[in-house]
Amino acid sequence: MKIGVLGLQGDVREHLRSCEVAGAAPMVVKRPEQISSIDGLIIPGGESTTIGKLLHRFELLEPLGQAVAAGLPLYGTCAGMILMAATVTGDEDARSRLGLMDIVVTRNAYGRQIDSFEADIDVEGFDRSLRAVFIRAPAVESVGTGVEVLARCDGRPVLVRQEHMLASSFHPEMSGDPRVHELFVDMASH
Ligand code: GLN
Repeated sequence: MKIGVLGLQGDVREHLRSCEVAGAAPMVVKRPEQISSIDGLIIPGGESTTIGKLLHRFELLEPLGQAVAAGLPLYGTCAGMILMAATVTGDEDARSRLGLMDIVVTRNAYGRQIDSFEADIDVEGFDRSLRAVFIRAPAVESVGTGVEVLARCDGRPVLVRQEHMLASSFHPEMSGDPRVHELFVDMASH
């Protein structure tokens, strides 16, 4: 199972390691021609406006959007979730985005004072709670009917799935717990 990690910005190395722990063979993806050799792709956290611009500059935005629309499994964490969302509310929209998932998000929604925090969350299908690390995280305001909410924190969805797409507002690569990566590797193997 070959899982690509978009290597334009963000905590790429941690995702590569988490994929390995989850039993996949990870590779860094930076060029459009690499898309055809992966079974799934992870977009790491970082700054969604920057990653969006780089996706455009590296000529990845369109081919990636087409590949995901055609069934390539995609997992976006934090900024990655923002890039996947169909709608970003407020005046902080990242201009170039994939916009493939039927969710509405607000950037930096947890306030500047509490830029980052950790919480133990219950995830559908996991037998014990998961420590989730939130860093200037987006909030999911609403989800479409085809979107499953797999976990919430303070009542808000923080892990969502729509068919072959998975998105989290937290950073699973930072807690040393591979279960969310295992979930994505499992999605990618079907
Ligand atoms: N605040 C960032 C953004 O809006 C996301 C932060 C993150 O990925 N940890 O793009």
